[in-house]
Amino acid sequence: MTEEWQAGRLDSDLDGVGFDTLAVRAGQRRTPEAEHGEALFLTSSYVFRSAADAAACFAGETSGNVYSRYMNPTVRTFEERIALMEGGEQAVATASGMAAILTTVMSLCSVGDHILVSRSVFGATVTLFEKYFKRFGIEVDYVPLTDTAAWRVACKPNTRMFFMESPSNPLAELGDIGALGAIAREQGALLVVDNCFCTPALQKPLALGADIVVHSATKYIDGQGRSMGGVAVGRREHMQELVGFLRTAGPTLSPFNAWVFLKGLETLRLRMRAHCESAQQIAEWLEQRPEVECVYYAGLPSHPQHALAKAQQSAFGAVVSFELRGGREAAWRFIDATRLVSITANLGDAKTTITHPATTTHGRLSVEAREAAGIREGLIRLAIGLEELTDIKADLQRGFDAQS
Ligand SMILES: *Cc1c(COP(=O)(O)O)cnc(C)c1O
Repeated sequence: MTEEWQAGRLDSDLDGVGFDTLAVRAGQRRTPEAEHGEALFLTSSYVFRSAADAAACFAGETSGNVYSRYMNPTVRTFEERIALMEGGEQAVATASGMAAILTTVMSLCSVGDHILVSRSVFGATVTLFEKYFKRFGIEVDYVPLTDTAAWRVACKPNTRMFFMESPSNPLAELGDIGALGAIAREQGALLVVDNCFCTPALQKPLALGADIVVHSATKYIDGQGRSMGGVAVGRREHMQELVGFLRTAGPTLSPFNAWVFLKGLETLRLRMRAHCESAQQIAEWLEQRPEVECVYYAGLPSHPQHALAKAQQSAFGAVVSFELRGGREAAWRFIDATRLVSITANLGDAKTTITHPATTTHGRLSVEAREAAGIREGLIRLAIGLEELTDIKADLQRGFDAQS
């Protein structure tokens, strides 16, 4: 048994502590080894004291670890920590961000249900809804993220879920989480918010009126581009349904990745603050450039939803997109002239990344769907990392130099 001095603290000792303390401390239970850091349990199964003990555990009559497809102490520590940081009752970790969306919809929707999806969501998310959920008899309609009234109009008697990201990828559009949550409630639907771009360090969708938050933990929660993972957070009644699906279907988070994410959460707010400060500087600089038609960043007063961003986020995030004059040719020339930033579609990394959305993240969409989402050929997406600001700027200057 763990001695009291080893365990160090009870869960109730964290009552009322601040966000940064939860990020460092929540969810950890020491083993009899008295380790200071979170233990990494690389085990697929667990042993039982007796045949009767095994039977009771399998039947769910006694609590105890059974099999890591659906319970692992390191994964559980991550789930408890992120649940508290998001202000939710329970979290369910998954193998990737896409697996978190899959698990949420498969657990809470059925054939004949109708889902409203923001037009401005991650490319693979559109494909998941459009190609796969529709194939299994779920109706899907797309609504402009920024047009709150359109969501109410698009509702049907069988509308079961609203799905949105805010800010959106790559154009940094915002949805009014409070207003959409209220409409969803009126309709008896659940509001699901992909909080990947903000993380709980900048935005708490559950407090604003969402029912469920989903994440790609691959991004800022990891923070250094190492591991794939995802998580959903919400009320226990909903999360229990997700646990049932995860247990059966198996899109499980690896304990090793959960351990990496625990380390990521400890520095989340510090990193987000640094990412956001540099992103603001870069966005303001880009906006002054004559080669740039427009910059998409909610921290700019010119952003049409700057006031909403200030109301529902504590900072504006680190993804800065901009439209270069000259279409695809100019955008590719810009990207190819850089030497420091990485040409890769990932984001939420200490390393700054640069992407051409129209031919990569959103390349699988039809031309019409891409146009409707506002993803044009001159668009470049930057995810500002943690390098020196002057070095990031100097590298982007190479892109501008290549235009003349
Ligand atoms: C990356 C991303 C996802 C998908 O997450 P994976 O971990 O890559 O599966 C979902 N939503 C948003 C907003 C993302 O950026």
